[in-house]
Amino acid sequence: MKNIVLLLFLFTASLGFSQQTDNVDFNTAKAHIVFGDLSKKEVTGTITYEFEILKAVDSVFIDANKVVFSNIVLHGLGVQADVEFHNDSNRLIIYNEFKKDERYELKFDYSTQPKKALYFIDWDTSTALSGTISNKQIWTQGQGKYTSNWLPSIDDMNDKIEFDLTITFDKDYEVIANGKLTNKQINDSTTTWHYDMQKPMSSYLVALAIGKYDKKVEYSNSGIPLEMYYYPEDSLKVEPTYRYTKQMFDFLEEEIGVPYAWQNYKQVPVKDFLYAGMENTSTTIFADSFVIDSIAFVDKNYVNVNAHELAHQWFGDLVTETSGTHHWLQEGFATYYALLAERHIFGDAYYYWQLYDYAQELLEQHKARQGTALLNPKSSSTTFYKKGAWVLHVLREKVGDEAFKKGVKNYLLKHQFKNVETDDFISEVEKASGQDLTNFVNTWLEGSGFLYEDYINPLKAASKEIAQMITLDDMLLVSSDGLDNKINRYWENAMYPRVKAHLFSKEMIAGVNHNILKKALKSNDLKIRQAVALSLSKVPLELKTDYETLLEDQSYITIKAALFGLWNSFPEEQNKYLNQTKDIEGFNDKNIRIIWLALALVSDDYNPENETAYFNELTDYTSPKYGFEIRENAFKYLLWISACAENCKENLEQATKHHNWRFSKFAKAMLKSMQ
Ligand SMILES: [Zn+2]
Repeated sequence: MKNIVLLLFLFTASLGFSQQTDNVDFNTAKAHIVFGDLSKKEVTGTITYEFEILKAVDSVFIDANKVVFSNIVLHGLGVQADVEFHNDSNRLIIYNEFKKDERYELKFDYSTQPKKALYFIDWDTSTALSGTISNKQIWTQGQGKYTSNWLPSIDDMNDKIEFDLTITFDKDYEVIANGKLTNKQINDSTTTWHYDMQKPMSSYLVALAIGKYDKKVEYSNSGIPLEMYYYPEDSLKVEPTYRYTKQMFDFLEEEIGVPYAWQNYKQVPVKDFLYAGMENTSTTIFADSFVIDSIAFVDKNYVNVNAHELAHQWFGDLVTETSGTHHWLQEGFATYYALLAERHIFGDAYYYWQLYDYAQELLEQHKARQGTALLNPKSSSTTFYKKGAWVLHVLREKVGDEAFKKGVKNYLLKHQFKNVETDDFISEVEKASGQDLTNFVNTWLEGSGFLYEDYINPLKAASKEIAQMITLDDMLLVSSDGLDNKINRYWENAMYPRVKAHLFSKEMIAGVNHNILKKALKSNDLKIRQAVALSLSKVPLELKTDYETLLEDQSYITIKAALFGLWNSFPEEQNKYLNQTKDIEGFNDKNIRIIWLALALVSDDYNPENETAYFNELTDYTSPKYGFEIRENAFKYLLWISACAENCKENLEQATKHHNWRFSKFAKAMLKSMQ
C-alpha cells in the first residue's frame, strides 16, 4: 500500500486467530458473487473451500463479519450427514472430527451488507439523483480492513489460498478481479465474469473493482499483459497517467531477477479511494486523482505509486510478512524498488534527492522523539517506508550489487507463495555475500537511534548536487556577510537547477532580494520558477512583469500560486488575471478552477452578471457526486470567502460520514469551526 499521508495500519492477528494455520491449510476457494440491492450494499455468494488437515482437530473456522450463512455442506472422511456449525457473527465454526492428512470440501451460501473492505460508490439514490455525472463503482480494500467483511475467508495472512472469483453483475459495467479472465458469459441483463488464479495469496490481497472502464493493453518483454484501465472520458489522459509503465515493469523484472509470478498485471483507478494505491495480487487499485494530463505530470504523477505497487507484487504478494514486526519487508522493499525504477527513468540525481528527502523526514521524526526500530511493529509509516528503503540502500552499498541481487533473488525463490520474516532475508544476503550482518542488523534494524551523519555523508559522497547544496546552505548560516551578498553568492555558485530552486524554499529568502528573484524568473527552468511562485504571496511592483509570465507556465501548481499572488498584489488588474485563467481546470481536484471561482466571487466587479453561476458551480463541487479531493477544495474556498451556505452545509454534514477517514475528519473540523 502507498499512503499519501502518514498512516499506520497493522495486522494484529490475535493468538487465537493465528493458531488455525498450524492445524488447517486452506488451499482453494471458488466463489460466485452476486449483488442484491446496491443502495443497501447487499452481497450474496456461494463459496467452495478445499482444505487439508495438518493436525487432527474437532473444529475449523472461517472469518466472516456479520454474515448470514445457509446450505452449509461438508464433504470428507468421517463427515456426518448433518454438519454442526455455529455462527458467532465473527466467524463460522464447523464442528467435525477432522482427521490428519485428510482433505475436506466446505460449501456454503452467504449474504451480508459490508460496512468496510467493500465500498459502494454513488449507488444511493440521493447521490445518483443530484447530478448528471454517474460514477457508480464498487471496489475493495482488504489490507487493514479484512476481506472477511464481504467474502468469508481466512483473515490470517499466513494462510495463502488460490482464490477464483466469479462475479455476476449488470452487463453495462466492467468487472475486474484477481487473475485471468477465462470466460465472460452474457446473460439477459447481466454478465458473469470468471476470473482464474493459478497461485495462492493472502486474503487481504483479494480484489474486486466494478465500474465503467475502457482499457489499454501493452505487453512486458516477458509477455505479461499490462492492462491499464481508465474512465471512457479520460482517453487523453491514458498516456501521461500510465507513462513508463512498461519500462518500469521490464526494469523491475530484470532487476529483481525473479519472473513476475501472476498471469497479468491490471491497474484500476477508482473514485474516493482510501490510499494512493493498493497492491492486490495482479490487480492494483489506485486513487483516480492520479489520472492526469501531461501538464499535471510535471508536478503530480502516478510514476512512484505505479512502481511502488508493482514492486509489491514480489514484496508483499509473492512473499508476505508473517506479522507486523516484519512490515518493512513489504513497505521498505516496495519503497526502495520504486526508487530504483525511478532512478532507471529519471537518473541518479533524482534517486539521491529522493533519499535526501527521506532522510529529512526521518530527521524530523527523530527530533520529535518519534523514531523507533524498524522491527518495532508499532513503527510509523515513515519508519517502515523511508527507513526501510534507506536500510536496503545502505545494505547494498555494504555487500555490493552482485551479492545484494543474489541474496534478494534467493530469498524470493526460496519463500515464494509463503510467508517471511526478516531473518529469511538477512540470512540469504549473508550467504550471498559471505559477510556476517549481525552488527548491521543491530544498528539498522533493531536499533532505534538515528545518526544524521550516517545518512548525509554517503549522499554527499555520491551526489555532487547534494554536496553543493549542503555547502551553500552552510555558507548561508555561517558566513557573517550580509544576507543580500550571501543570497547572491548562493545563486551564482549553485550549478544545478534543483539547488537553485532549493534557495527559494528557505523562509529567510522570501521577498528579500529582488535582483535574485528577477534572475530566477528569467530562468526557463519550471521548478526554479515554481519555487519563486510559491515563495511570494505579495509580488513587488518591480517584479510584476516577470512574475506575470508565471501564468503561462505548464504547471498547475505554478499557475495557481501565481494567480493568487497577482490577484492579491494588484487589485486593479484582477479582471485581467481572471480572464487569462478562466478556462483552466488544473489537476483532477480542480485546484485552479476552484480558487478561480472563489477569486471571481470576491473580486469587486468581475462579471457581476455571472455571480450566481459562479457561486452555484463552486457549491456544486461540494456535492458527493464529485471525488473527495474536489469537494475538500470547494469546502475550503467557500469557507475562505464565508460563503458556505445551505447546500454547502448539507454536503458538509454528509461528508462527516464519508468512508475516507481523512476527509470525514476534515469535514467534522470544518463544521465545528463554522459553529
Ligand atoms: Zn506499499
